[in-house]
Amino acid sequence: MDYLPLFLNVRERLCLVVGGGAVAARKVILLHRAGAIVKIVALKLHEQLQELAQRGVITVQQTAFSDIEIKDYYLVIAATDDKILNTQVYQMAKVHGVLVNVVDQPSLCNFILPAIIDRSPIIIAVSSGGASPVLARLLRARLETLIPHAYARLAQFAARYRNRVKQQIKAVRARRIFWEQVLQGSIAERVLAGQEMEAEKALEEALSVNSAPSQGEVYLVGAGPGDPDLLTFRALRLMQQVDVVLYDRLVSAEILDLVRREAERIYVGKKRAWHVVRQEQISTMLVEYAKEGKRVLRLKGGDPFIFGRGGEEIASLAAEKIPFQVVPGITAASGCACYGGIPLTHRDYAHTCIFVTGQLKEGQLNLNWQSLIQPQQTVVVYMGLAGLGLLCQQLIAHGMSSSMPAALVQQGTTPQQRIFTGTLATLPRMVMNEKIHAPTLIIIGKVVALHSQLAWFHTSQESSCK
Ligand code: SAH
Repeated sequence: MDYLPLFLNVRERLCLVVGGGAVAARKVILLHRAGAIVKIVALKLHEQLQELAQRGVITVQQTAFSDIEIKDYYLVIAATDDKILNTQVYQMAKVHGVLVNVVDQPSLCNFILPAIIDRSPIIIAVSSGGASPVLARLLRARLETLIPHAYARLAQFAARYRNRVKQQIKAVRARRIFWEQVLQGSIAERVLAGQEMEAEKALEEALSVNSAPSQGEVYLVGAGPGDPDLLTFRALRLMQQVDVVLYDRLVSAEILDLVRREAERIYVGKKRAWHVVRQEQISTMLVEYAKEGKRVLRLKGGDPFIFGRGGEEIASLAAEKIPFQVVPGITAASGCACYGGIPLTHRDYAHTCIFVTGQLKEGQLNLNWQSLIQPQQTVVVYMGLAGLGLLCQQLIAHGMSSSMPAALVQQGTTPQQRIFTGTLATLPRMVMNEKIHAPTLIIIGKVVALHSQLAWFHTSQESSCK
């Protein structure tokens, strides 16, 4: 180990930054965030530093460095591109035993500044010991995505209860187990989801019985349209800590692979005609698993609240007083439109976008046709493949032009994505000719004509029919 990692308390300490450029500004901000009294010596100031000086955040001395009494300072950072000056700063600081860092010159430093992930009060520092600051920054970026921002709140929550728990649970080992349960369990999840009052109530209850709750909970998570890169950070985190997952047909294998290995996997895919019974069964299963104390993931394609029947599933959880969270996902309309180069709204072509279900009920489409044929509008139809012929026929019958551009996006956002563009008149024939299958999204409106210009990466198979 070339360096000993330490966290330095600079609060109310006088710190000096030599230099007035953009790099100096970054160091000044960092010191200020840690509570230091920052002084800067520079002949010219970057505009960010001018602004900080105006606000009184820093004091500026526009003189030569040689006029500075370095021993008055706790710490010095030199951020100039003048090598002679930097060396002078280092030597002066060394003589007076002041901590010194010369930016990008490890040999002129007696401390180095790591890349940081700030979830104050939790701070994670990454350093390559000067070997490759870029590598340290890349690593930092990775960690940023893994550690929820709300960990800051979780640490503050734990701090608030630290003494209470200490008084209540005297034995060290029991206290450690208690905190492990709290910080990895449903109480922590509530803090992370912003439900602090509920978390406090649950912690009080847990304290009264000296043990964290063993009741299970349910996460209703939107898995997006297929590409695993479109998962949210929260979705991924919850996926990696569950005991059982109930998933349906739309959840891709790549996404399922990201669920915790040990979790029991249950397929509850629905088929069109008989999902009424099925839905009740799913709701019952969620309740039963949670009552067994399990953390249950209900993983749904797209967004759980867009044609996902998420509302019904959480209604039964609420009725049974089972804690749950709903995590939004990217809905098929957003995913397919972005990956297909079809903007859903556009200043010149569409000011409104409407999502409808095209599911047939007893062979009929029960839609508000007048609302669908409005000008300057994009219509997105979910579950519309089986009724596509009827849909196009009815739109034309109600006044939409038969030459209105329309697109079919099959398995949008996945490597198997296929896009077909045409018009209301030609689309139904395409379905038969091209053997298009579910899941497929239908996009109708003038914006579809932009596809040929805007789909700049043609990874998907496509064809058009005028
Ligand atoms: N909750 C989901 C929608 C469920 S309804 C969401 O928010 O996306 C199922 C319909 O969504 C399918 O019939 C299809 O029309 C559409 N769909 C879902 N994923 C899709 C995908 N990857 N490509 C195209 N259409 C998709």
